[in-house]
Amino acid sequence: AELYGIRNWGAGYFDVTSDGDVAVHPFGSGSNVAVSIPELIRGLKERGLDLPVLLRIENILDSQISTLHESFRKAIANLGFKGEYRGIFPIKVNQQQQVLEEIANFGSRYHHGLEVGSKAELIAAISQMRDYEACLVCNGYKDEEFIDLGLHAMRMGFNCIFVLEMPWELSSILSRAEQLGVDPQIGVRVKLAAKGSGHWAESGGERSSFGLSLSQIMDVVDTLRSMDKLHCLKLLHYHLGSQIPNIRDIRTAVQEASRVYAELVAEGAAMGYIDLGGGLAVDYDGSHTNYVSSRNYTLDEYCTDIVEAVMTTLDARGMPHPHIITESGRATVAYYSALLFNILDVSTVEDGRIPSEMPADLPEPIKNLFEAHRSLSLRNVQECYNDALYYRDETRRMFLDGRVSLRERTLCDNLFWGIIKGVAALKDQLKHIPKDMEEIDVALADIYYANFSVFQSLPDAWAIDQLFPIMPVHRLNELPSRQAIISDITCDSDGKIDQFIDPQGKKRVLDLHPMNNGDDYYLGAFLVGAYQETLGDLHNLFGDTNVVSVRVYPDGSYEFVREIQGDTVAELLEYVEYEPRRIMEDLRSLAEQAVRSGRISPAERFSILQAFELGLRGYTYFES
Ligand code: PLP
Repeated sequence: AELYGIRNWGAGYFDVTSDGDVAVHPFGSGSNVAVSIPELIRGLKERGLDLPVLLRIENILDSQISTLHESFRKAIANLGFKGEYRGIFPIKVNQQQQVLEEIANFGSRYHHGLEVGSKAELIAAISQMRDYEACLVCNGYKDEEFIDLGLHAMRMGFNCIFVLEMPWELSSILSRAEQLGVDPQIGVRVKLAAKGSGHWAESGGERSSFGLSLSQIMDVVDTLRSMDKLHCLKLLHYHLGSQIPNIRDIRTAVQEASRVYAELVAEGAAMGYIDLGGGLAVDYDGSHTNYVSSRNYTLDEYCTDIVEAVMTTLDARGMPHPHIITESGRATVAYYSALLFNILDVSTVEDGRIPSEMPADLPEPIKNLFEAHRSLSLRNVQECYNDALYYRDETRRMFLDGRVSLRERTLCDNLFWGIIKGVAALKDQLKHIPKDMEEIDVALADIYYANFSVFQSLPDAWAIDQLFPIMPVHRLNELPSRQAIISDITCDSDGKIDQFIDPQGKKRVLDLHPMNNGDDYYLGAFLVGAYQETLGDLHNLFGDTNVVSVRVYPDGSYEFVREIQGDTVAELLEYVEYEPRRIMEDLRSLAEQAVRSGRISPAERFSILQAFELGLRGYTYFES
């Protein structure tokens, strides 16, 4: 458990049992209820559901929503704040119907609302929302159709608020609202001077692509005043960026936004809501620092700092306290899903044969490699490392010119890896490990071939080097003796994971167990509920994985409440405009030609076509 830091990043939801299995603690660390993940995997396999599987634990989503609201409630009560907290979930973070349904369901006791950024998201939100008090915030570019849909939602009783991202949206909203006879609720997204740090820092700051400058906001106020519509201006919004690791950035931004809010009240706008957007970070690496994969604050601290900043600013002006909205996506859903996958194969750097005596007549660079291999010691480790690289490259060049035979080249490779392994064993005794030697562990690492696609299931690991906690889900009372990187099955050189969480930020190899002959070895990538599902793509035509939702009861029993089959090969082919029916027709006539030319019998044609039909209906991943 310590090796993988599970208690640091698991937020009480994940731990290791005395049998060495990862277990889910759906009610947090304060409860004894735990469900073993290997047991869940066995249950899935018995039901005929193959890995990879995205496992969703319903209770965790419920718990995350409650914790967020309860933390704000606590801060509000402690500080004597007069407004309320109104959380909303930004659909872009996970638009899956099941996720929205569960958020709408679990969130209803807190009036947890939704944030949308497009027409499709608005329609999806309305289809799931049943709470007329919860906020439905419309961000994003809005054409007339988007505006009409939002106004219709208002007419149906939803608490819909249009946030202006662009100045020209105001006149469209006002004129459509007039035509439909609705008084719209309007918000403005402000470009603050404050900026966050981290992967998504560009979303904030004065030069951010979205939102209105202060002078554009003043124009909105003047326009609304001239039309006697200042009562429609209800909300101030900003979004600093997602995954803000440093609490200082959050405080600076909320202070600045509270000042802008107060000025809008002073201008005569109705106001009532301050919406801080997303940014509440997830501690993926469990380091509790301001590294990009972490956060240096607790949820309670986040809530207190926000409530305090808003309250102090408004109290100084004697103004009423607004309702506070946050659009927390990542922190709400990340913990709720884990990707479970099996290892298909392992490739290791083998010990090549090296003769004890140097053969006669070797080309010069290989002689030098032999010498480096023989003389390697702590004293000359850097020199031997440099020689290994230099003479290996030299030998490769000579091979291309035909001056080195294939056998000699093989000997060169064996010597090279022999030296590198020796350097790896010695380097940790050096006072300072030279930068270029840091890569050695990765070069020598085993490659564990995993049954999933990075591009489909962990796109941020590929696109922006985001770290996710990844670890075996069983055998944890055995010390892992191998160091590995993970390669997916896309055969793409980017389809790998070679950065892993570590208390020092990140590490390049993951400790794994050797594969026992024929036994399954299962790994989990945790905290993947945010962003990964809808950003994933169909690289190499690997599709959506199977998804299974588990609900755990307080007595420890559980049920698989929903099972969503992953894409079939036929569905994937349809995405890229093939017609499976046409494919089968073509295959039938190709197989008939093979019968006519005598290559196969009619009975063989039948079984070949059956195999293709089955293939089209099958899972896109490796099926055992
Ligand atoms: N609100 C807006 C406007 C966003 O663009 C985003 C995502 O970047 C979010 C909320 C969600 O942010 P987070 O996932 O950090 O909570």
